[in-house]
Amino acid sequence: MNSVLPAGKERNEFRSTEDTRGLTMQTALARELCEEFLEDVYALPHGEKLKQCLQCGTCSASCPSGAAMEFGPREIIASLRAGMLDRVLNAKTVWLCVSCYSCAVRCPAGIPLTDVMYELKRLEVDKGLAKDAAGETMAHAFAETVDRYGRNAETTLLRKYFLRTNPWHALAQIPLAIRLFFRGRLEILPRKIKGLDSLHKMLAAIEQNGRELATVCNACYVVLRKTNKYMAEDSHLRDDIRQALQAGGMDYSGNVRVRHFLEILVNDIGEARIRSRVQRDMSGWKVACYCGCQLSRPFDDLDHPEYPRLMERLVEWLGAAVVPFPLAAKCCGGMAMTTHPETGQVLTGKILKVASQRGAGCVATACPLCPINLEAYQDKVGRAVGACCQIPVLYFTQLMGIAFGLPPVELALNDNLTSLEPLLGEKVTS
Ligand code: SF4
Ligand code: SF4
Repeated sequence: MNSVLPAGKERNEFRSTEDTRGLTMQTALARELCEEFLEDVYALPHGEKLKQCLQCGTCSASCPSGAAMEFGPREIIASLRAGMLDRVLNAKTVWLCVSCYSCAVRCPAGIPLTDVMYELKRLEVDKGLAKDAAGETMAHAFAETVDRYGRNAETTLLRKYFLRTNPWHALAQIPLAIRLFFRGRLEILPRKIKGLDSLHKMLAAIEQNGRELATVCNACYVVLRKTNKYMAEDSHLRDDIRQALQAGGMDYSGNVRVRHFLEILVNDIGEARIRSRVQRDMSGWKVACYCGCQLSRPFDDLDHPEYPRLMERLVEWLGAAVVPFPLAAKCCGGMAMTTHPETGQVLTGKILKVASQRGAGCVATACPLCPINLEAYQDKVGRAVGACCQIPVLYFTQLMGIAFGLPPVELALNDNLTSLEPLLGEKVTS
């Protein structure tokens, strides 16, 4: 097994010109680093629960990326607790984690495993010890992009990533980039966030007036709710966050109720009002309702964490047929699609394959990010899973708009990468 300190990546604080017992020294450093890792992980909200791991293996058995890992999350925990940091660093396990929260919701000890994976990635990058070049490069490229523009900018992020890893792979992305660009879904030049003052005022007003915040994206939904949860549970974390915000002229005390737009439609607007708006006969539509992994996990108060029903209820109200779809909450592997495409493609491929096998005419998603994976790589993912994966994909509000009789142009259907024309029975023009 390689040393814990890769060539050229020695940490200054551990350098000793006097020490000639290299191996012993490195072993001691590994142990010390492992203790540091563990301290940081234990400091996470609920991180102390790591000590209660039963080694039951439920996490590894639940992991959608497990087949690509040398060993799964169970062994990561065991290795950390045994002080075997080398083993953790030499494995790609943490970099193949796609943040699906399956392990976290199933763990009988309540260990926040997804957060542990995030923390391990962060610590590996911070300490310059990451062995997964793709993951480390993406982490740096992402942090630099957000630092500079205040937001992610896909073109800039991918340019940085591919130039630092394999520029030839960037060439392979050009056809997709052109398709996205002409559909208005890719900006060539990054834009900084404008009107930050207005955003500060808006967020302050929402919090002061006890209003709710609605999001249309599963990833935003989870991150915002986790922020609230951890601010409520950990006063030190809350103080750190508030201090950082106050340095930028903002404040937030963690009290805005965060909701997903799908939930608002189903729970607040309700069946009667939605049914009353339906204008089009949708009886010929067979829909696979794909909620994605982060709508109902880790927060299971919205829907069933493994078999969500929210979108199915909505689609039934629209008059369309819901096909039985057991992968409704499985991860599409979006986080791995660029850094570990072999893994991402298999996860996306399984979803499209099963949707097709179940007789779906289209896949409706609850997150606007999922369609990029589900639509953009259908040829590749079909080859990865050895099945035809050609199936139209649309965001659930587009499906609602179709049922409500709105013209395709108002629903931006022409911006989708997969065509709905066979289902609509009409040409879609922009
Ligand atoms: S599911 Fe939880 S208790 Fe079981 S091995 Fe994984 S981390 Fe440990
Ligand atoms: S969050 Fe998902 S991908 Fe990550 S380790 Fe857990 S089960 Fe695996």
